[in-house]
Amino acid sequence: MYEFRCGSPVCRTSFTAPDEDALMIEVARHVAARHRIPKPTKSLVQFLKDNTIREIPSTAKTG
Ligand SMILES: [Zn+2]
Repeated sequence: MYEFRCGSPVCRTSFTAPDEDALMIEVARHVAARHRIPKPTKSLVQFLKDNTIREIPSTAKTG
């Protein structure tokens, strides 16, 4: 599980996704819709990966 927390001081959005790729898709949607950045640069994407997302270790599996 991966978690995103927007680093913007005017935005407190956070959400999770089952893996990093899925999360980055949601992050891209978020920055496009909320922050009006439809095409984030590679350096912005790298910044987001380094600063706004983290892996949540899953210790317990359900099912
Ligand atoms: Zn945001």
